[in-house]
Order: sequence, then structure tokens, then C-alpha cells
Amino acid sequence: MVKITDTTFRDSHQSLIATRMRTRDMLPIAEEMDEVGFFSMEVWGGATFDVCIRYLNEDPWERLRSLKSRIKKTPLQMLLRGQNLVGYRHYPDDIVRKFVEKAFENGIEIFRIFDALNDVRNMEVSIKTAKRLGAHVQGTISYTISPVHTIESFVGMAKDLVDLGSDSICIKDMAGLISPTEAYNLIKSLKKEVGVLVDLHCHCTSGMAPLSYYQACKANVDILDTALSPFGGGTSQPPLEPFIAALAGTPYDTGLDLAYCTELKERLMEVREKYEGLINPISERIDTNVILYQIPGGMLSNLVSQLEQQNKLEKYKEVLEEVPKVRAELGYPPLVTPTSQIVGIQAVLNVLNGRYKMVTKEVREYISGFYGRPPGEIDEKVREIVSEEEPITVRPADLLEPYYELAKEELERMHIVKKEEDILTYALYPAVAIKFLSGELEEEAIPKRHTTETFEAEFGVEVDGEIYNVRILPAGMEIKKKDDTRPRAEIKGGVFAPMQGMIVKLNVGAGGEVEEGDVICVLEAMKMQNDIHAPKSGTVKEIFIDEGDTVMQGDLLMVIGED
Ligand code: MN
Repeated sequence: MVKITDTTFRDSHQSLIATRMRTRDMLPIAEEMDEVGFFSMEVWGGATFDVCIRYLNEDPWERLRSLKSRIKKTPLQMLLRGQNLVGYRHYPDDIVRKFVEKAFENGIEIFRIFDALNDVRNMEVSIKTAKRLGAHVQGTISYTISPVHTIESFVGMAKDLVDLGSDSICIKDMAGLISPTEAYNLIKSLKKEVGVLVDLHCHCTSGMAPLSYYQACKANVDILDTALSPFGGGTSQPPLEPFIAALAGTPYDTGLDLAYCTELKERLMEVREKYEGLINPISERIDTNVILYQIPGGMLSNLVSQLEQQNKLEKYKEVLEEVPKVRAELGYPPLVTPTSQIVGIQAVLNVLNGRYKMVTKEVREYISGFYGRPPGEIDEKVREIVSEEEPITVRPADLLEPYYELAKEELERMHIVKKEEDILTYALYPAVAIKFLSGELEEEAIPKRHTTETFEAEFGVEVDGEIYNVRILPAGMEIKKKDDTRPRAEIKGGVFAPMQGMIVKLNVGAGGEVEEGDVICVLEAMKMQNDIHAPKSGTVKEIFIDEGDTVMQGDLLMVIGED
């Protein structure tokens, strides 16, 4: 018998529709999903938390409670990024403990815990907390291919995870890279060397996943991750229904009811249709490029949408080629959140601005050891360009001060805290949480048509004797400012946004003095924080931004005048 973990409400919509499925679309079908007989349903964690507050104006904690009230038999599972929880940086231990406690209290029974670098030190606190609460811990290996990743190294890691108390081991193949033979060999070794359940989690991106699942069955895998077919395939998990049929009557029978799941499929097709405008044709195609570039499903669709936002979609191929170079230079991190963003955004910046001409704060911190131990050596030349300091060798969170009580005080002072969970939301995502908790955010609209399809036409029109370029777009399509329509050169001393994003920190005020190279503000774009430096020394004449503002590429941020 093979058990099935369903990912429809987490990874599959994260991979196919940028995590945008609303709770109101999950609830009407949740009770029926509960009847299927899944080993678990992964419904929370990963990017769902961030997207809920940032784009959907939904409280992720309420989503969990509502799902729990309807899904009573099937254990609810979440994906937890170790010390990063559901964020993109390391949080202090007190926040990690509190978060795991609250997730458990609100209904999570299985914690799938991973670290992007496979640095077990970053998983310890969350694993121990979940164990103390009596939850099931699924210790997770971020699977990747590189000269430093071998079956022996993965088995060694699995043993460490079991020693820490893991009840099962998951092979998290976020890019769909594992070949059938490799899946067979790795699972055989794990089953022989560690005495716990083994789960295989793949994405269909490269097209190999269904074959790898079958070989995994032959190696006696215990659990496979699938999604119901309307949200399966492409960059998502393999679809469930073919597995029920293919494995029926074999020693790997799932025991699930194909007719019943087909009814559910019909219901989910309706949900899918609502989000059709978000499905990027690129993420639905079999893409053997991922075998070459090792880019996970979620990252692929992110890169496409980031390049779209910057109006640079034509650089897609170049960025794909840059990703493995950056990855090798950074010591072969597996590409999974947050390293997929760190490597991906740096690759985008390298292509758009020149190699390492602009370096994100995250790359600097990564190279300095603040994400943990990279699997391989960091390229010396890159290290020299990026950071002069010796990297740290301790567990990164050892350097963090407790924050929960302070976060509580800060939030109470703003009078926007309604429940303890709000404090965690704020501790994880301060800027977005303030907007969300104070009711300033609105639910984003679902696009009618995917925006990579270009049906635009450009015309010149005359207004007051000046010729303006006007783009004609189909109804419902968002108008994006072109980077060449702004009179950059005319504004002497102007500092412009290098990309679209949110100003999360403003370090200067009008009238303030700056030195060339000073960090004048921090722009959060593509989930990364980018330092914006003063292009020259002088006095800040005018500021056009505030913390929390969203800016477009090319927007004027401030004007620096010479003294
Ligand atoms: Mn995944």
C-alpha cells in the first residue's frame, strides 16, 4: 500500500496560480476532500502565509482554523522552512517556538520541516518544539544535484533528522530533478538505513516525476505527494487520479476510490476556471530546461512574473542560463525558498545590470554565513566582490536576540493586535502586517487573462503639441509604465527605483546629508531587500517616497543636490 499526501490547497496552487486560491474556494470542497482517505493534506505554510496577508487580505490563521473545522479525519500538514518558518530570513528561537505552538494549536498535526541549505542546525528548534507538542515531524531533505550532493550525504542527513526525533523523512524534490533510477536508489538506501516512513515529493516540471514515483514504489516508498488533476501536472505535483488507476491491484495500491476522486475533480475544475487568468502557459509546459538549470516550479513562474514586472521578459533565456552559474558560485545551494529567490534574483540582477554590479543584501548575508553552512565552497572571486568580512561559523539564529515580547509591545502600541497570532504575523512580516492588521489592504483582483500574452499596440498621439506614445491594451489588463517614458536625464541628482517594489526602509530625510555610496533606502522587490545607494554626496533636496510606498521601476525616489 502506498499512502498519498494531497497538496491541492498548498503546493499545487502555489506552483500553478502563484498561491492565489482563496479560502472561500477551498471550504466548499474541504469536507469532501476529507473523505478521500489521504495520509495527510498539506494546506498551510510555504508561500500561503505571505500571499494571504500581502495579496488576498486574508488572515492565514483564520484559514487554518476554518479548514480544520471542516477537515476532521485527515491530518493537516504544513510546510515549515525551519528557522525561516514561513518567511525568508532567520527568526529568533522564541519566535520559532511560539509559531510552531500556535500552528499546532490551530490545527497542524504534521510539520514538514526543511532547511534550504540542508543545515540541520537550522531545523533543530522547530523539530524539537513540534515533538514536545506531540506532533508528527517530517524531517525533510531538500533534494538537488551537484558534485557535493550524494546518496551518502542525503542518508547521513536523514539519520541526523531521525536522531532529532523525525517520525518520517521527506525527499523534497522541488524542481522535479530526481530521475527514476536516482529515486529508486535513494529510497532503497533510506529504507535500509533509517527505520521510518519515507515520502517522495516531486514536481512534474521536467516530465520525469510520474516515472520517478513508480520507481519509488518499487523501492517501497511509503508516501507519495499528489494533487487532484485540475491542479496537478506542470510545475505542480503529479495528478492523483492516474496513480489511483495505475497502482490499483498492485502491491502499491493506494486504496483510494477513483470514481469519488473524479467527482472531486469536476468540482475543482470550476475552481480552476476562476483562476485561469493566473495560469502561465510556461508553467504548464513540460520543461526539460529545469534539468539543465535546476529551477524549481515556483521559482520558474516567479522569474517570469518578475521579468514581466520589469518589462524584460525577453531576458528569460539569459536568466535561465545565469541561474546555475550563480548557484555554483554560491556553493551549490539547493534551489528552494529562500535560496531559490536569493539565487534567482541575483541572476536577474546580473543579467539586467552586469554580473554582481548590484548585489542584494541577502546574497551578502548568505556569503557571510547568515543562512547557514553552504553545501559547497563559495567562489573566492565572488566572495571578494561581495564581502570583506570573515563568514560566521555558528548557527545563524544564535546571533539573534529574543523578539516576541518586543514585537508584542510594538504592536500593542499601534492598537492593532486582536489575538496572539497577530504578533507572530507582525514579527514575520512587519511592513505588510501593519497594513494588513490595520485594514488598509484590499483583496487583489484575479486577472482575466494572463499578462504574458501581448495584444498591445503602440500609437503616437499629439497632446498640446507634444507627441506621446500610447499603448493600447485589452480590457482588464494592467497598464505597466515603460521605463523609457520618464525624463530621467532632466532631473539632475535624481535617484530612481531600479525595479518595482516596496520601500521598506527610508534612511534619510529632506535636508539630510549623504555620502556617495550610503544606503539611502531599502527597496523590497521580488521578496528580496535591495539597498539603494546614494549615487553621489550631497544634500537631500526632495523626497518623494515614504516607508510602505510601492514604486514602479523608474520612479523618482529623491533628489540629491550638490552642496
Ligand atoms: Mn514542492
